[in-house]
Amino acid sequence: MSQPTTVSPTDRTTIRRLPELANRDRAMLHAIVDEAYVCHIAFIADDDTHCIPTAHWRSGDDLYIHGSNGSRMIKVLSAGAQACIAMTLLDGLVLAKSAFSHSMNYRSAVVYGRFEVVQANDEKLAAMDAFMDKIAPGRKHEARPGNGKEINATTVLRISLGEAAVKVSASMPSDKHEDFHLPVWTGVLPLNIVRGAPINAEDNRNVVIPDYVKNWSTR
Ligand SMILES: Cc1cc2nc3c(=O)[nH]c(=O)nc-3n(C[C@H](O)[C@H](O)[C@H](O)COP(=O)(O)OP(=O)(O)OC[C@H]3O[C@@H](n4cnc5c(N)ncnc54)[C@H](O)[C@@H]3O)c2cc1C
Repeated sequence: MSQPTTVSPTDRTTIRRLPELANRDRAMLHAIVDEAYVCHIAFIADDDTHCIPTAHWRSGDDLYIHGSNGSRMIKVLSAGAQACIAMTLLDGLVLAKSAFSHSMNYRSAVVYGRFEVVQANDEKLAAMDAFMDKIAPGRKHEARPGNGKEINATTVLRISLGEAAVKVSASMPSDKHEDFHLPVWTGVLPLNIVRGAPINAEDNRNVVIPDYVKNWSTR
């Protein structure tokens, strides 16, 4: 079945505050999931609400995470707990004339649902390959694959991106009319994740440097 191209709001994913910032484009949702390296997962365990940061990746219309079988988050999510996942890309600081009108430009997504455990070994390996591809395309062919012990000690979880909200703010400051005359600079201070120059580990002397390392800071 082909994936829907829009994000259809449910009761809990209907953006009520500044609804004009809601984005229904599933391609935007996928782009946020792909660009963000880290998501924050909220769930309830032991009578407390927790929100834990972790790495994630996407395949099709599913988001994946992985972790040690011993992790509380992994155990609780594997048991089918309700989860809420947030991903945020911060694009800029919006400086207005008045302190109260300052804001931020961002692309953010919130996903609801329950994770399922990726059980089949081949699916688990394919999922981990997809994770390696997100870190550095091609690296899965170079790094030593996980051995049985490592794979068995790791749980891979998948959740559908079917129930999601996307909010995008990309604006210049909006000032009140009575503040227009104030001699205060306004505008946007853009923010980006910057790729730095690769840092060699000591044991790299006889190693061919792959293109994704050579081109890391320019791609
Ligand atoms: C980097 C950043 C900085 C922000 N700073 C502030 C701030 O300082 N003060 C402030 O009040 N708000 C801020 N926001 C906006 C904030 O995320 C909420 O959207 C806003 O506070 C409204 O909350 P609410 O519970 O009334 O939302 P509602 O509109 O009632 O939320 C309804 C549903 O919409 C979805 N939703 C809500 N917010 C988001 C979102 N950001 N992304 C994706 N889905 C969403 C969720 O599914 C939620 O259940 C910021 C957002 C980002 C990403």
